[in-house]
Amino acid sequence: MDKREAKKEINRLRAEIQHYDYLYYVLAAPEISDYEYDQLMKKLEALEEQFPELISPDSPTRRVSGEPTKIFPVVSHRKPMMSLANTYSEEDIRDFDRRVRNLLRDNEPYEYVCELKIDGLAISMLYKDGMMMRAATRGDGEQGDDVTNNVKTIRSLPLKVVTGDAALENLEVRGEVYFNRADLSSLNQERVENNEIPFANPRNAAAGSLKLQDPRQVAKRPLKIFCYWIESVVESQKIRNHIEGLDILRQLHFPVNTHYILCKNIDEVIRFWSEWQKNRYSVPYDIDGIVVKVNSYEQQQRLGSTAKSPRWAIAFKFETEQTETTLREIVWQVGRTGVVTPVALLEPVKLMGSTVSRATLHNVEELQRLDVRIGDKVILEKGGDVIPKVVRVVLEKRPPDSQPYLIPDTCPVCGSKLIRQPGEIALRCENVACPEQVARRIEHFASRRAMDIEGLGEKVVELLLNSKLIRDYGDLYYLEKEKIASLERMGEKSAENLLASLEESKNKPLSRLIFALGIPFVGEGAARLLAVNFQSIDNLTEASAGEMEEVEGIGEKTAQSVVSFFNQKENIEVIEKLKQAGINFSGTGTVSRTSGQFAGKTFVFTGSMERLSRNEAAEKVRQRGGIATNSVSSKTDFVVVGKDPGSKYQKAQQLGIRILSEEEFLRMLGE
Ligand code: NAD
Repeated sequence: MDKREAKKEINRLRAEIQHYDYLYYVLAAPEISDYEYDQLMKKLEALEEQFPELISPDSPTRRVSGEPTKIFPVVSHRKPMMSLANTYSEEDIRDFDRRVRNLLRDNEPYEYVCELKIDGLAISMLYKDGMMMRAATRGDGEQGDDVTNNVKTIRSLPLKVVTGDAALENLEVRGEVYFNRADLSSLNQERVENNEIPFANPRNAAAGSLKLQDPRQVAKRPLKIFCYWIESVVESQKIRNHIEGLDILRQLHFPVNTHYILCKNIDEVIRFWSEWQKNRYSVPYDIDGIVVKVNSYEQQQRLGSTAKSPRWAIAFKFETEQTETTLREIVWQVGRTGVVTPVALLEPVKLMGSTVSRATLHNVEELQRLDVRIGDKVILEKGGDVIPKVVRVVLEKRPPDSQPYLIPDTCPVCGSKLIRQPGEIALRCENVACPEQVARRIEHFASRRAMDIEGLGEKVVELLLNSKLIRDYGDLYYLEKEKIASLERMGEKSAENLLASLEESKNKPLSRLIFALGIPFVGEGAARLLAVNFQSIDNLTEASAGEMEEVEGIGEKTAQSVVSFFNQKENIEVIEKLKQAGINFSGTGTVSRTSGQFAGKTFVFTGSMERLSRNEAAEKVRQRGGIATNSVSSKTDFVVVGKDPGSKYQKAQQLGIRILSEEEFLRMLGE
């Protein structure tokens, strides 16, 4: 390639990478796999190496991608937060080792630490005199978003470090915020139900969650963190290498991933990588490779870094397994709230040890973006999720007579018209009696986190519905042993077990029952809040949307949805069946409101607090038998005022309500 051609190709690659960066970092909706992205970057690097005069400082090979979102205050990092060079092959990792050896002194011994590369988002936390003062995202490496209040909602992260040693109380700690696979799956399911685009991977989910404006919403997301970097701001010689750093982090009670090892040479590194490549799904969170770091800090310093990444570390990544197969058909699945999702039926193919014949296509928008057609060759990928996905169509192999896929306009199960509300992503079957919706609702009612009825999975629900023994979940409690036993593949024993499990479920706490009802937008968290604040199904049935919105943590959408649920005749009928069957309809499911330190007391929070998020504070009130509401009235007992309080503060003053500072509130809690 001559220089002119190279210049053209370099510009094309830079523009392409810039486009994928935007999709990945800003929209959190990547269109290609990390592997494909990294190959583009490699191509660009190789060309720039061949024609160094074409390198420019703004090339994606020279700078950390990403930028602060600017929805939060922008803060500068004490030390740049760098990216990592990466590789997918043994050959490249040996090259890396050779470079390290050449940069060190002749025959100088060195060791590597290998850690898992958690697929999440990098965060830096600053501690001053033992208190966590600031948490920031990486951004462009120099400046990131100040997301302190959001990071404070991560329960496993210590907000306070007490050691009596100034060097250990003035620290910077860095780590990776991530989601467990199962939590991400539930979150994505909820998002589909709520008409939102599911997150493509845990990193996008973590980034999307930390970008939320309201820490209460963040607190509802089960974010987790692993810390992997510590630096004392008051410089001390205490820590000499990375392993000691990890040890100290652990002693200070930071969550540290336990799967790391010290390696004497690059062969040991390769062994660790290939073992984890095989076992990557044995941990409940996604890892996309391992990170290899030179252990000694002094050597790290000597090795230094490029503008983009340190020379003493590298990400040794796993390849995502992809495979090609033919798409035979697209079918539509109906969920319990009527959301209809497309599923690809495939020519069975082996992928990561199992045979795959179905893959999710998420929603209409994804289907249109992929432009998949029946008969297309498609690339399948199995990431962390158990369910594989179609990542793209192999257009070169598209049959010449292929026709664009037409989105159906009627429900495949009940034939009702499918509706797509303006601004909504999901297609919906609005017929609440649609047999598929009914089955999904019953399965949800019986599921482990709802009423936990053992022996009532998909197959049994189908049997009971087909034999007309039940029409809704209210009928479950009127089932007779003989009738169940007479069903195909059931028998006396399973009938007895099912009835025993149904009986047991009658005493489940109110919060579980509310969740089990399957009200759109009412997840476990909202169900708990409604249980604590309304104390019975009867109270909840009578509550207005306004009264529900008074509850700290319940938004307008949820409140409206609950009201509209209880306004439907069919739902009231089912609830009556549950009531007649003697299901527990009252209590709270958590703590009593008649006992506890704050029994009967109402709290309102305004302004931002330093130590606790509003959600955590409200939870502490509830745990002590009190109520946390959203607006100040003569019924309010205490108003807790944080930084920059709103109009609630003035109202509290006007009404002469007792005002507490955050300190006073914490003292009342005894914390
Ligand atoms: P990176 O994700 O490859 O590596 C750096 C990051 O690893 C750190 O910032 C940190 O967050 C994380 N990390 C996890 N565990 C760690 C540990 N134990 N120790 C240290 N760090 C750890 O690099 P990057 O600059 O954050 O992102 C670039 C990568 O993102 C690309 O290589 C590509 O794979 C992906 N990407 C993909 C697309 C796409 O369209 N698919 C677009 C842009 C970027």
